[in-house]
Formats: sequence, structure tokens, C-alpha cells
Amino acid sequence: MKKFFLLVYGCQMNVAEGESIRKALLSENYCETEDMTKADVIILHTCCVREAAEEKVLGKIGEIKGIKRDNPHLILGITGCMAQKENEKLFKRAPHIDFILGTANLSEILSVISSIENERKHILKIDFEGGDILPVAAGKFSVYIPIMTGCNNFCSYCIVPYVRGRETSRSVEDILSDVKNAVNAGAKEITFLGQNVNSFAPEEGGDFADLLAAADKVEGISRIRFMTSHPKDLSDKLIDALANGEHIAPHLHLPMQHASNRILKAMNRNYTKEHYLNLLDKLRKNVCHISVTTDLIVGFPSETEEDFEELIGFVKIARWDAAYTFIYSKRSGTPAANMENQVEESVKHERLNRLMETQNKISREINESLKDNVEVVLVEGESKTKGVYQGRTAANKLVLFPHKDEKPGDSVKVLIKEPQTWLLKGERV
Ligand code: SAM
Ligand code: SF4
Repeated sequence: MKKFFLLVYGCQMNVAEGESIRKALLSENYCETEDMTKADVIILHTCCVREAAEEKVLGKIGEIKGIKRDNPHLILGITGCMAQKENEKLFKRAPHIDFILGTANLSEILSVISSIENERKHILKIDFEGGDILPVAAGKFSVYIPIMTGCNNFCSYCIVPYVRGRETSRSVEDILSDVKNAVNAGAKEITFLGQNVNSFAPEEGGDFADLLAAADKVEGISRIRFMTSHPKDLSDKLIDALANGEHIAPHLHLPMQHASNRILKAMNRNYTKEHYLNLLDKLRKNVCHISVTTDLIVGFPSETEEDFEELIGFVKIARWDAAYTFIYSKRSGTPAANMENQVEESVKHERLNRLMETQNKISREINESLKDNVEVVLVEGESKTKGVYQGRTAANKLVLFPHKDEKPGDSVKVLIKEPQTWLLKGERV
């Protein structure tokens, strides 16, 4: 039997697409190997949001050159965002790549591999719009379901709209059918994915809050999550859906990016810090025990010490459960890459450290307030430590506890004994 090795970089959308690539190959009698040197086909499903992500992929492509020297039949494919962005330049840089498939061409992966098996040649397929969203891979207890592709927002730092094209929403019928299939195959939790789920607009009408309400009624579903929400489009109707849904998890990932109104404007985010604060207020007043997380960028062009201090001040007011903090990475082709006053690397790093220190203290304080609570945890499986299992609460907090008899997909009650910054340690009750 032929073997494939698949490496997925980047966001949850990539993880969902990676699952679908895996499902397609397994259905063609391939089996998966975790050893690159034993593979007949290697696929790198890539990300290009930050330079560091691209560097990792380039390093891996270099490593595979040596493996291909020993096994000339090996087929190497680069798929996803970096494929879309770099296009045929990747062949020039690394001629040992066999195929490059963009984000709208993933459903062609089997036919592309089979053409290369018949005749060795470079294949490049990059469409900028359309393409099927691959069928969702069901069968696990937690399943990602893409509901839309692309992004129309053009935040000035971000490469995503250039590599994923314009927003296209799937039909509610197709999405609900994926939800039912996943639940029938044993899924307990589903996560709807899109770059901005709040602007979900299927051809037949309705909005994201309607989709959530419909999914909430699917029999057998335990938890519904979604990401990502853009603050400019978070409606009262969606807050109501979060507040009143029976199975909708009380967690919202609501990227703020920055708190200086001048920087937010330069980022083209289309909201102010006052608007964001008002949303936080409404969410916390209306949705019981909601946890809110965010993304923040430091070192955006022209960010002054004063702007940064404003961000630090806002972090203390917002008191997010957690923040994913990034150093601004210049992406050529985006407006911010040509802005003047790029911030020095050393300053960016120093600001990132200060930001993380401020947020980590708050995350820890919030987690400490959960000490002695009993939390319902959806079990994911064994953690990095043998004999210790991990899972998540409805509010998406990671919980570690000693293994008894539970299996992935079980819901168990855990008494929280030792809260930390990024996780909670406890014992089953
Ligand atoms: N669509 C989502 C949104 O609007 O928040 C996020 C998608 S993006 C793949 C995930 C995060 O990467 C963003 O929220 C942002 O914080 C970060 N990001 C995007 N471009 C970046 C850049 N050039 N440098 C640093 N971080 C970046
Ligand atoms: Fe990028 Fe902004 Fe679109 Fe998110 S909303 S993917 S940050 S352009």
C-alpha cells in the first residue's frame, strides 16, 4: 500500500482542509505514515500569514530534497496559502517540488497525484476564485466545518484576502448536512470556521445567527463553537444567539488587533476601541460565564510608545481570558508593507514581552477564580505527559487531569485544583 505524509501549518481552516486531504487520500487506499522517509507522497499544507510560517515551510522543503535524492519516485506537493501566494516561484526555488495546488484547487489533489504517477512533470493549479470546499472529514468527536471561504476586509497588514479570494458562503443545507453527518459519525463538538463568520451570507438568505440557531436544534449535538468573529460585524442578534442557544459554547474569539484608534484606522479595521469595549460590555452582561479571547499585533508601522501604552492600558480594562499576541510581520503586496516608519525588530520584541507579561497576569487571575469549581470537560485524549489526559471546558479552557477510564469524546467532571496561566489542572469527581 502506498503511503503519504501530511504536514499542516497554520490556522484551524488549514487543519480542516488538512483533514479533508487526509480523508481523500485514505479513501484512495493510501495509508498515512509519520515518517517522511517512508512516504510515497509528501504534502505540505502551508500558511503565509507571517514570515516565520513561510520560513518553516521553506526549511522543510529543503529537508525533503535529501529524502528525494534517495527516493526519486517520491512525489512532493505544496498546497494552501503559500502555494497560492508564491505560485510558480516555488518551482524555480525548489525544482524537486512536483505539484503546487492553491486554496481553491484542493479537490483536484487525487487527479493531480495520479497524473504525476503516470508522467513525471510539474503541475501548477492556482485558481483565484471558486473551487469546491472539500467535504468535511467526519468521524472524530470534534469536527471543524468551514462555512465560508475568503475575506473581503483587507486589513492593511494581512495577506489572507490576496490568497483566499473574496468571501463565499456555503448553503445552509450543505452545512447542516455536514453537521448531521458529523454527529451521526460520533462528533460531540463542531466548530464553524470562516475568516469572518459574522458576515456569513448564503445565497438563500439568512445570517450566521440563523445558522447557529438551526445547528443548535440538530439532535445529538453537544457543543457548537465558531471562529473568527470580526468586531465590526458582531450583531446584537448574534449575541442573543450566544446567550440563548442550548449547545452554543460561551466562548468568543474576537480579535482586537490594537487599541489605539489611530492604529486601528491605519489597520483598516473599521471600528474604534470604544466600539470594542461596548461589545465586551454587552457580551458580559448577556452571556452567562462567557470567556472572550483575542488577537493582538505589536509593532505595526508607526506604532509609537504612546500607542503601545494605550494598548497595555486597554488590556487591563478588557481583561480577556487569553490573547494570542503577534509581532507585526511585513507581507509584501499588502498596504502596510509600504507604510513609512516601520518599527525596529528589537522594539517589536521588547513590546511583545511587555504585552505578554501584562496579559499573562490577567489570564492567571481569571483562571485562579475557577479554583475549586467543578467543570464539565470534553476529553481530547492523552496530554504530552503519559497518564495525564486533557480536554476543554465549554469556555474553551484547557484542563489536565490524571487518566482513569475516560476516552476521547467523553464528557467528565473535573474539580479544578491548580489553575495556571494557560491551563487548569484538576482531578475527576
Ligand atoms: N480573520 C481573522 C480576524 O479578522 O481576526 C484572523 C485571521 S488571521 C489568519 C489570524 C491572526 O493573524 C490575525 O487576527 C492577526 O492578529 C494575525 N496576523 C495577520 N496578519 C499578520 C501580520 N502581517 N503580522 C502579524 N500578525 C498577523
Ligand atoms: Fe485578515 Fe482582516 Fe480578513 Fe482577518 S478580517 S483574514 S485579519 S484581512
